[in-house]
Amino acid sequence: MPEPAPDVAELLALDRRHVWHPYGPMPGRQDPLVVGSASGVRLRLADGSGELVDGMSSWWSAIHGYNHPVLNEAARGQLERMSHVMFGGLTHEPAVRLAKLLVDMSPEGLEHVFLADSGSVSVEVAVKMCLQYWRSLGRPEKHRLLTWRGGYHGDTWQPMSVCDPEGGMHELWSGVLPRQVFADAPPAEYDEEYADRLRSLVERHAGELAAVVVEPVVQGAGGMRFHSPAYLRVLREACDAHGVLLVFDEIATGFGRTGALFAAEHAAVTPDVMCVGKALTGGYLTMAATLCTSRVAEGISRGEVPVLAHGPTFMGNPLAAAVACASVGLLLGQDWLGEVKRVEAGLREGLASAAGLPGVRDVRVLGAIGVVQLDHPVDMRAATEAAVREGVWLRPFRDLVYTMPPYVADDADVARIARAVCAAAREG
Ligand code: PMP
Repeated sequence: MPEPAPDVAELLALDRRHVWHPYGPMPGRQDPLVVGSASGVRLRLADGSGELVDGMSSWWSAIHGYNHPVLNEAARGQLERMSHVMFGGLTHEPAVRLAKLLVDMSPEGLEHVFLADSGSVSVEVAVKMCLQYWRSLGRPEKHRLLTWRGGYHGDTWQPMSVCDPEGGMHELWSGVLPRQVFADAPPAEYDEEYADRLRSLVERHAGELAAVVVEPVVQGAGGMRFHSPAYLRVLREACDAHGVLLVFDEIATGFGRTGALFAAEHAAVTPDVMCVGKALTGGYLTMAATLCTSRVAEGISRGEVPVLAHGPTFMGNPLAAAVACASVGLLLGQDWLGEVKRVEAGLREGLASAAGLPGVRDVRVLGAIGVVQLDHPVDMRAATEAAVREGVWLRPFRDLVYTMPPYVADDADVARIARAVCAAAREG
């Protein structure tokens, strides 16, 4: 028997009355679309009006598409065995196997894995690791962070403090968040003068810095900007020279999105701490991870408090870990680079015409990421509606219309997504 169709009008009325959405206005101002189901790269609307190709991969996570038989089977199989168990004093196969997979695929030297329950929490944990490392070594004054302007690292307290303080999403909190050290956002191309300024800033503040925290190669939600990987080497050298830890937030860039498994590989650099999330479970369940080197783990364990004091209730959730193992297995078991390059070529071709549109400042593509930057703030409603008319789901913001499609989007899907980005840029 087919499921009875939901009463979409009733759902919307209840949603309007009771539900907060991410960065949404007070409930009641804007109607979302109601999604009934999803498979492959398509979201099926609950009101029966049709399907949308997902140009967002559910905020860059659903790299294998929806309702994937392998991921479904991993979830189902684990559900039969154990959906959750506390992680304090207990362990289980999905978490252990996932940790091993992550260590094996990550830049050489990252050995220890903390399983967090969201990207923001994995950044919180990364910061705590770094602060605790210096505290353990008798250097509690090293508790500040250096980051680039234009970054985004999550919505909880420490991550907000390393997001862009001016004009960014968390400007509201600038007076009360921990005060961090900011360098200008890195230019797209390598610039020796900028690199020198970066080196000097690390040196000048080294006495109070626990870590440098950055998004490698792509600054995502802070502006969808790309920069030369050479800056990562500059940071690695400066951090080594002046005794500062280096944290890469690979939550958006990890698992192939930029055309390398991790963006750090573009520069052949290993950070001391690395955060991953989003695509870790193929977008199925909420799980992220913070990896660190033995140096960091051993430093912490030498301290007066020799434990990392963080242990969320749902840490190491077996369902999420089992699906993450399956998702990573799917990725590594295929020619993932070939797929990402294919999407990249499709986006380059499809977005080329956007460069000539009035109001377009820049068009850029890297891996499975395509961005059209406007010279004015986007009219979000008009841009979204234009994309929906093309049969595509996009979520433009600020002056940006962009896509991060699932890697399984075929050539026709990618062309359609690119057409929708152009339409949204034209009408937004
Ligand atoms: N860091 C980066 C680079 C991100 O892109 C995001 C999410 N957009 C986060 C951290 C926060 O992750 P989450 O939304 O899972 O908390």
